[in-house]
Amino acid sequence: MNLIFLGAPGAGKGTAAEGIATKYSFASISTGAILREAIKNETELGLKAKSIIEAGELVPDDVIINIVKERIKAEDCKGGFILDGVPRTLEQAAMLDELGVIIDRVIQFDIEPQIVVDRLTGRRVCVDCGDTFHIESKPPEKDGICDRCSGHLIIRKDDEPSTIKERLRVYDELTKPLTEYYTKTGKLIHIDASKSIDEILSIITKALEL
Ligand code: AMP
Repeated sequence: MNLIFLGAPGAGKGTAAEGIATKYSFASISTGAILREAIKNETELGLKAKSIIEAGELVPDDVIINIVKERIKAEDCKGGFILDGVPRTLEQAAMLDELGVIIDRVIQFDIEPQIVVDRLTGRRVCVDCGDTFHIESKPPEKDGICDRCSGHLIIRKDDEPSTIKERLRVYDELTKPLTEYYTKTGKLIHIDASKSIDEILSIITKALEL
């Protein structure tokens, strides 16, 4: 089964994708994580994407679709995958269709913008393993240190308040139209993303077992 997790930045798609991927042995594919890794390794892709991401804008559609096209060929995608944060534009959705990527369900994470701002400003990310924490709702055991790998926790550059505002504007303008696009396919399921992660995982699990 192949899924798309759709929703604003900070809606909790990544955390839910990890949980669902583990439960069903799906591959979890985050284009944002792939791009951050490329930036860290200073690859050609990373150098191209860095300034775009730090400004809160979107990386070009063809670059993104090429990443997805290659990633879904991997062995771990054979049993199903979750696209977390992709597609983000109508063009990307059309390109996925053209590639013949079959999508079984699209989970739309509904959330109020103010909750997103609170979540993103408090988010801390491990520079080494990418695990995420929140200063209030999921604090690490030791301040500034990752529970999983002891790496340093940082604020993502694109989680600075002015960039969050731009990311939300971009979401409204370019990504929101995807809700209508996938509603028309009959595959879209709305979930209330303000709920706890356990509730969200249970709602998605029930939706997938329909
Ligand atoms: P995320 O971790 O999903 O919030 O992604 C972080 C950043 O990576 C986004 O703000 C974009 O700049 C870029 N990015 C990730 N996925 C996409 C996508 N599907 N299309 C365009 N840009 C993307």
